[in-house]
This record gives sequence, structure tokens and C-alpha cells, in this order.
Amino acid sequence: MKTLHIAVLPGDGIGPEITHQAVRLLQRLAEQGHFALELDHADVGGAAYRSSGHPLPEATLRLAQQADAVLFGSVGDFSLDTLPRELRPEQAILGLRKHLQLFANLRPAMVYPELAAASSLKPEVVAGMDLLIIRELTGDIYFGQPRGIRILENGEREGFDTMRYSESEIRRIAHIGFQAAQKRGHRLCSVDKANVLETTQLWRDVVTEVSSEYPDVALSHMYVDNAAMQLLKNPKQFDVMLTGNMFGDILSDEASMLTGSIGMLPSASLDANNKGLYEPIHGSAPDIAGKDLANPMATVLSAAMMLRYTFGLEASAVALENAVRRVLATGPATADIARPGLASTGCSGMGDALLAALG
Ligand code: NAD
Repeated sequence: MKTLHIAVLPGDGIGPEITHQAVRLLQRLAEQGHFALELDHADVGGAAYRSSGHPLPEATLRLAQQADAVLFGSVGDFSLDTLPRELRPEQAILGLRKHLQLFANLRPAMVYPELAAASSLKPEVVAGMDLLIIRELTGDIYFGQPRGIRILENGEREGFDTMRYSESEIRRIAHIGFQAAQKRGHRLCSVDKANVLETTQLWRDVVTEVSSEYPDVALSHMYVDNAAMQLLKNPKQFDVMLTGNMFGDILSDEASMLTGSIGMLPSASLDANNKGLYEPIHGSAPDIAGKDLANPMATVLSAAMMLRYTFGLEASAVALENAVRRVLATGPATADIARPGLASTGCSGMGDALLAALG
């Protein structure tokens, strides 16, 4: 039987509550004989700063490096926002991405029929939407050199950044995109601005070259301005969207808001060997932390992504996703997804309901 070695990093605010519920569900699947679990817990973010003076202590990083995958809660603690930037809780996530070489960010955006009315768009536009945005995470204008603010000869200041992508960086994220499309609806839309930017002309050329290795995936290309419009006009047309760091940053936030429920959205960040860090897209929600109010579903769905992408355990991933679907339909519901007629519950009650639905 496969042993899954998982580093559990709960973090701050609601992080410990939501990861605890996801771990309970993983343990149930292990009890049912689907796999064996080896879990190691460590502090990260503000919790780690308080316990050992750094948001990503050496011991936590080592644990994350040794594990097959990382289940991450959330980091962020407003009372630590006056610390120097390198000691703030959010630096932990940047450090993990860098040290684990997590270059591919996968963000599904799904609208469950029960929650379609919570979207900012008309229910008929979003109901049934199920898309996956794949964003390159370690290159592009966010990291390109040179960058800076300089003084021009006329004494005026000028800010500049450099958009860069090497062929190999584009190629490796393109493979992730095509392989993800093979696991879903076999359609990949690559988003660029090839009409204006040389870097993204290369992006388009390389993605097109890689597509010859995936004849079962239909590739299309779309300019980023049109993609932003199409996400609002007809989001159901997309299966997998593949894009660079900056465009993906913006489009993935746009897509997540179409779903109307921040407590439902998982994410994965993968390296070249499918090792990954899995986390809900929301933050540490200090306003509800410690009150047993948080919705753990985004973290449970992140655990499902871990089972699918790192461990290749599709049936177990689907079991978790189906448990979420069943509880969404029947209740109970946490406050963020409350609907008339459904019993209300908290974070631990939601964990109980999901366990019952998992069987
Ligand atoms: P947030 O996502 O923590 O919360 C925004 C709103 O959504 C709040 O009203 C919160 O109560 C609600 N919410 C979030 N998750 C929820 C859940 N699971 N169930 C029910 N309601 C939920 O964003 P914020 O308040 O802007 O940021 C709080 C802290 O989190 C900050 O320190 C920020 O830097 C950090 N943050 C961390 C991450 C991360 O760990 N990857 C991501 C975003 C923000």
C-alpha cells in the first residue's frame, strides 16, 4: 500500500481549524484502506515567528522538503504587519515556493449549482462553470532583471521591469497544462498578448510546438484582454486556461470571484516532479479565527487535489469531492455558504458532516 508522507503546516488564524478537518478526512480514507499516512506537523507564518523567530524556520523548510507533499492552511497576522518585510508571516509562502521550486500554480474555479446565486454574475451564466487556471509562478515580469527606478538625464524618475520567459520555462509549464487537460475536458486555452509582446509571441510558439505531443488535447489561443472579457461573458466555454505569471495572477483572482464563495476554492503549486503545496486560496481570516466559524471545504478540496496530482489517487480525490458535493446539497452549511432551509454549522460540525458523507 502507498504511504503518503505529508507535511501539515496549519499556520495562522483559521489555518489550524481548517487543516484539522482536512486531516480528519484523510485519516478516514487511510482507515478505509486506500493508503497509509505519515503526517508531520510544523509551525509556519506568524505562529512560527512567535515560536522560533522566523516565519519559515529551517526545521519547517526541511520537513516540507522531505515530505512528498505539503498541506498548508493559511498565514497572516495583522499584529505582525509592522515587522520588517522578511519576517512577516506571508514571506513563508514565498520562501516555500522558491525553495521547493514550485513553478506551476493550479487554481480550479467551480460553481456548484447550489451556490450559483452567490456569484456576482447571473446564475445561468455561471451555474456549472468548472475551469482550471494554470499560472506559471516563478518567471515573467515579476522576477525578470533588470528592474528598478532610475533617474533620467532630465532629472525625471523612471520605473522599469523586464518581461522574460525562456523556452524551457514555457515548455515545462505547457506540459503541466496539457497533462491537466488530459485529466479533464481535453481543451487548453493558452492566454497571451502575442500581438504586442515579444515574450508572449515566444510563449505562443512554444505552447504550439508542445501541443504536437498531445494530439488528444484541443489547443486554442486567446489574448489576455479578451480572456478577461470572456471570463465575465461566458466562463463556461473554458476547460483549462494556461498563462504566465502576471496574466495568471489577475485572471485567477477574477475567475475565483465568479464563484461567489471564498471558502470553497482550493489550489495547488507543483514542482517538476508533481511534488506540491496545497492550500485554500483564502487567507487566515482573523475576523473569524478561533470561533469555529470557518468553512473547511477549500482545504478539503486542496487535499483532494493533493491526492490527484501528487499521489495519482484519483478515486480517493473524487471521494473527497463527492463528500463536499453531497454536503453542499443537503447541508449543514457554514455561514459563508448558508442557504434558506439548510441547518447551520461551524468548522468542526462541517468536518463531522463531511466525514459522514464520506462514509
Ligand atoms: P481572507 O481571505 O483571510 O478573508 C477575507 C474574508 O473572507 C473575511 O471576511 C473572512 O472571514 C472570509 N473568509 C476567508 N476564508 C474563509 C473561510 N474558509 N470560511 C469562511 N469565511 C472565510 O483575507 P484578508 O482578511 O484580506 O487577509 C487576512 C490575512 O490573510 C492577511 O494577513 C493576509 O495577508 C493573509 N492572506 C494569506 C494568504 C495565504 O496564506 N495564502 C492568502 C490571502 C491572504
